[in-house]
Amino acid sequence: MLTDYTLTSFTLLETKMSPQHITALIMAAGSGVRFGGSIPKQFQPLAGVAPVRRALIAFRAHPKISSICVVVSEQDKDLLKKALGTDEPDFIAIGGAARQNSVQNGLEELRKAHTQPSHVLIHDAARPIIPAKVIDDLIEALENYDAAVPVVSLWDTLSNVIDGEIIKDIPRDGVFARQTPQAFNFSAIAEAHQNYSSSLTTDDIAIAMAAGLNIATTSGSPLLHKLTTEDDKSLLERLLNAHPTPLNGSGYDVHRFGTGNAVTLCGVKIPHDESLEGHSDADVAMHALTDAILGAIGEGDIGQHFPPTNPKWKGAASSIFLQHAVNLVADKGGRLTNVDITIICEKPKIGPHNTAMKEALMPLLRLPKDRINIKATTSERLGFTGRGEGIAAMASATVLVWE
Ligand code: MG
Repeated sequence: MLTDYTLTSFTLLETKMSPQHITALIMAAGSGVRFGGSIPKQFQPLAGVAPVRRALIAFRAHPKISSICVVVSEQDKDLLKKALGTDEPDFIAIGGAARQNSVQNGLEELRKAHTQPSHVLIHDAARPIIPAKVIDDLIEALENYDAAVPVVSLWDTLSNVIDGEIIKDIPRDGVFARQTPQAFNFSAIAEAHQNYSSSLTTDDIAIAMAAGLNIATTSGSPLLHKLTTEDDKSLLERLLNAHPTPLNGSGYDVHRFGTGNAVTLCGVKIPHDESLEGHSDADVAMHALTDAILGAIGEGDIGQHFPPTNPKWKGAASSIFLQHAVNLVADKGGRLTNVDITIICEKPKIGPHNTAMKEALMPLLRLPKDRINIKATTSERLGFTGRGEGIAAMASATVLVWE
C-alpha cells in the first residue's frame, strides 16, 4: 500500500500538477462538550456571526476555492441553516460517530459530486478566522505535495504538569502546533481515510502520515485560533471586533400631498391638514432610511424588495420595509452603527416630534438614541417642497462588516 502512495507522490512531483478544483470541507459536526451554552459552539454567535458562517465566508471570498461542503450532525441541520442564513454551502454531508467518520462522510459526498474535486481543504469550524495568505500557501504547496498543513511555533516554555505539579520541562526546539485548514490531494486523502483503522485522531494530517503521503508544512497563523473555552471566545471577539470595514449608503424619497388629516414620518403620526399619498403608509422618511441601509449592504432599493405593483403592500406600515433591511444587515454579519435623516418640507413642523420619531426608530434599528439623528429643513419656499406639494427625505446609514 505504501508503495502505491509513493508512486502517487512521485507522479505529482513530476507533473507539477496545479490544483484544479479545490473544495473546502468545513467540519461542523462536533458537539462542543467543553464549551458552555445549549447549542454547539460552531453555531453560537461570535461577535454577531457564528464561527461556521465566518469560515464559510472566508472560503467563499478566496478566488481559488471552487466549492464548499459543510459536515453537520443530523440533529444540528436546523442549527446550521439558521447560523448560515443567506450564506449557503454547495454541499451538506451528515456527520458520523467520531470526527474522522464525519470527514469520511464529507469526502464521500464530494466523491459523488458532479465535479469531483482534485484537492480538498479540510477545516474545523471552530477556527472562525482564516487568513487568505494561509490558504494561498497551502494551495501553492499542493503543486508539489500530496498534503500541506499550517503550523505555528510555540513560544511559551513547555512543561509536563500532572495534578498541578510540574513533572518536567519539555524542550521547545522543533515543536510546532498543527492547525486547520489542512490541504490534500483529494483521491490520496480519500483512500488514506478508507484504509485507516488505528486509534482516533484529532486531525487529518495524522491519517495522511499513516498512509505515507508526502506532507508540506506551511506558515500557520495565531489568527487561526481555535474556539475551545470562554476565554477563547473573548479573545476571538476582540480580534473580530478590531478591524471592521465601514459601508455607507444613502437614500432619497418624495411623496406628494393629498387629502387627509395626518402624515406618518419615521413611524409617528403627525396631525396635518393634508396626508402623503403612496402605495404604503407613505412614510417618506422611513423609505429614504430603508434605501440608505439597503444601499450600504449592496441590496438595491426598497422597490426591488417590495414591488409597488404587489397589492400586498397597499397601506402597509413602512416599519415592515425597514425591519427587512435591518434583518438583511444581520444576515450579512454586519452591524448598523448610525443613521442620519433629513426631512425637507415647509409644513408640518418636525421639531416637536423629533424625540417621538427617534423613540419609534430605536427598537426597529436596535440603536441607541444618540446614533439616530433626525433633522428637518425647509427649502426657502423654492421648488415642489417649497410650494408645499409634498415632502422629501434624505438619509444615510453606516454599517460595519468584518471581512
Ligand atoms: Mg416612498
